[in-house]
Amino acid sequence: MANKDYYQILGVEKGASEDEIKSAYRRLAKKYHPDINKTPEAEVKFKEINEAYEVLGDSKKRANYDQFGSADGNPFGAGGGQGGGFGDFFGGGGGFSDIFSDIFSAFGGGGNARVQERGQDINIEINLQFNEAVFGCEKLVTIAKQEKCSVCHGTGAKNGTEFSTCPDCHGSGRVRFQQNTVFGTTIREGVCQKCSGTGKIVKEKCASCSGRGVQKINRTVKVKVPAGIDNDQVLRLRGEGNAPMRDGINGDLNVRISIAPHKVLVRKGIDIYLDLYVPFTMALLGGKIDIPTLKGNYTLTIPELTASGTVMRLKNRGVKALQKDFYGDMLVTIKAEPPKKLDKDSKKLLEQIADKLGNNYKKYNEFLEKTEDLK
Ligand SMILES: [Zn+2]
Ligand SMILES: [Zn+2]
Repeated sequence: MANKDYYQILGVEKGASEDEIKSAYRRLAKKYHPDINKTPEAEVKFKEINEAYEVLGDSKKRANYDQFGSADGNPFGAGGGQGGGFGDFFGGGGGFSDIFSDIFSAFGGGGNARVQERGQDINIEINLQFNEAVFGCEKLVTIAKQEKCSVCHGTGAKNGTEFSTCPDCHGSGRVRFQQNTVFGTTIREGVCQKCSGTGKIVKEKCASCSGRGVQKINRTVKVKVPAGIDNDQVLRLRGEGNAPMRDGINGDLNVRISIAPHKVLVRKGIDIYLDLYVPFTMALLGGKIDIPTLKGNYTLTIPELTASGTVMRLKNRGVKALQKDFYGDMLVTIKAEPPKKLDKDSKKLLEQIADKLGNNYKKYNEFLEKTEDLK
């Protein structure tokens, strides 16, 4: 998936500082705010700028974006929802909507820019088998989510029609009040409290949702898990979360990944590790052994005189890198295992072998030499 270049959108270098990003955002947001800039492309541009800042203005999301090409390190698209990452824009408090209001009230504007409400995210965890994570899979999950009431179309009014005009805002959904901002005292427009910005008052409530406009419904969602996903990574399914109480956009469905261990293979990032115990005689004499790998069985040849602890690297037999076109390796550590028991005859034979081999050991002898004067 091709992601947008957020740095280019904000016109900053890749290594730009937080301050540079913040000031680029402020400059562009003012330039393209739809209430100030009436050109047709302004709105699209404004959205893009906000999307970019939402990611680059948040150190965590930015790091993820730099690494994975998306804000949350997942292939389901960049960016979080509105409302995140903006809290510190004017030095605390507020949120996305406040920036909108502050910017256009400072310019003597005031407009009808309705700030969209956003539904809550739903956070779940799914358990995957080792291979499901390595190769990717599709999972069906059932979640209880809040959706728009289908009877009243989310209005909360009977049949979606039983309204009267709000007396406080006379239907505009917005009221004016005075506020102190970084630009000085301004007359600020805000959402009408009485009707929550809808401009309407419900005369008779929808019976189906008791006037709430939303209802809880069990939904089955298909989660596409990309190959190479790892423990604790989170897939974000945009818009699959809860619907907001009023008009607006759905929250996201965040799916945290939990992976069951494999019987013998151990995964670390994109590499696969195997501790391979072989009879000590096989380590000495050499031999062949079939081992499981992610690309099927593989016949590993153990050379003669392999020391216990020797690591053999099988190139590209690891896990596929998430959203990239390369694979990790498989690292097999050979462990020479002694027999469980030694009977008399075997012991005798081994003693003869030990005699025969004599002092024929490189590292062992080096150790003895180096430590001679330490004893
Ligand atoms: Zn309803
Ligand atoms: Zn009102």
